[in-house]
Amino acid sequence: MQRYDVIIAGGGPAGSTAATLLAQYGHKVLILEKDQHPKFHIGESMMPLIEPVMNRLELDWGKGNLKKMGADFIHEPSGRSLFLPLMGKYQTYQIERSSFDHRMYNNAIAHGVEAYQNIKVTDVVIDERGVRVSTSGGDFEGRYFIDATGRSALMGRKFRKVKRLENFGRYALYQHYQLTDNPAVEAIFSTGNVKILLVDVGWLWIIPLIGKKLSVGLVVQKQSKFDVSKQQILKQYLDDSPLLTSLLDNSEVILPVQAEADFSYINQRRYGARYACCGDAAGFLDPVFSSGFFFAVKTAELIADRLHQGFLKGQEADSKLHAEDDYLYKTGFNTMWLLIDRFYRSSLVENLIFEFDRHERIKDEITALLAGDLWSDDNLFQQGLLKGRRAAIL
Ligand SMILES: Cc1cc2nc3c(=O)[nH]c(=O)nc-3n(C[C@H](O)[C@H](O)[C@H](O)COP(=O)(O)OP(=O)(O)OC[C@H]3O[C@@H](n4cnc5c(N)ncnc54)[C@H](O)[C@@H]3O)c2cc1C
Repeated sequence: MQRYDVIIAGGGPAGSTAATLLAQYGHKVLILEKDQHPKFHIGESMMPLIEPVMNRLELDWGKGNLKKMGADFIHEPSGRSLFLPLMGKYQTYQIERSSFDHRMYNNAIAHGVEAYQNIKVTDVVIDERGVRVSTSGGDFEGRYFIDATGRSALMGRKFRKVKRLENFGRYALYQHYQLTDNPAVEAIFSTGNVKILLVDVGWLWIIPLIGKKLSVGLVVQKQSKFDVSKQQILKQYLDDSPLLTSLLDNSEVILPVQAEADFSYINQRRYGARYACCGDAAGFLDPVFSSGFFFAVKTAELIADRLHQGFLKGQEADSKLHAEDDYLYKTGFNTMWLLIDRFYRSSLVENLIFEFDRHERIKDEITALLAGDLWSDDNLFQQGLLKGRRAAIL
């Protein structure tokens, strides 16, 4: 039987990132992916600080994607809105996940990673000699295992360590449209901005995608009893919005209503002897600030770099190998968690973001966090958040 240095379950953004970086270091890497690319995935709005990771992967992430200037927060009934600029040192984009995730996967293969699709990892046994990975296509052996299985969170669920985070979005309903040109459509495509519309039960996202497509979703947070179908709930909120009514005029549905529930959880055992979890397999936060993809590639990068050091020193079986980086993870995750908590519980947008003209410094500091700059030591707003009355989650 072949023996790999690293076996990775999951060929999404986190798995492909970890695999490519480890292959660049010269390790023998295997990805096992249960599905087949290209495949649909929700999560299209990106943060600028993804770019340094893409540069390391040697991926031109602008290719085929729509440049995004920033984020608009809008409350249509009162007419209040605020634009947060996200362009700066790094560019960011709205990406169509099916083609981009496929490119990341192929990029890993181009860097020497061995990869198989339609193979589902079912279990992992770890002992002092290595890891034995059981799959729908037989067993594989290696020195180290990375769980990049996304919201399946293979290791977290195996150890019953996935803890739900309450009070954020309860479920999302979303749809894709092919648009027809009109002034509203031209306006949204001229900036590429993500638009967050505040509504009574939660919020709506509006994400323009290359080829005049639009991703629209409703995240329901408040305990609401709807006595209509999910399709009708979404339709009601789309019909109630003047902006969406004009954007969707003469449009065609190209993805029927999809539903996703149970977001926001943390895997309380993210690493151990000979294994680590990255991306959604480590934890997942309500998508209001578009942080999921960023955390996926960033946690994969941290794990790959540390594991390479571990291999060099013969420490890959050390259960504390990733402890130092977990501190960074906690800082990033806690910051985002507290920001989202403020969004839902204390009307961050109404009380602070819409009042930004009076709080220029805070505006810059929140903008930096939403760009993915989560580890600087001079962000006073972030320091206040982390020290505040509301305890961090990790
Ligand atoms: C409603 C919603 C909206 C979102 N919006 C945004 C957004 O605007 N911006 C943003 O940045 N993020 C967003 N996200 C989050 C983002 O999509 C994820 O954080 C991101 O996809 C995480 O990447 P990943 O590689 O960890 O997981 P995934 O992309 O899910 O990849 C995991 C891979 O593992 C494979 N897999 C699973 N189990 C197994 C197994 N047992 N064996 C083998 N393979 C397996 C899966 O098939 C998949 O290919 C959103 C999420 C949701 C639910």
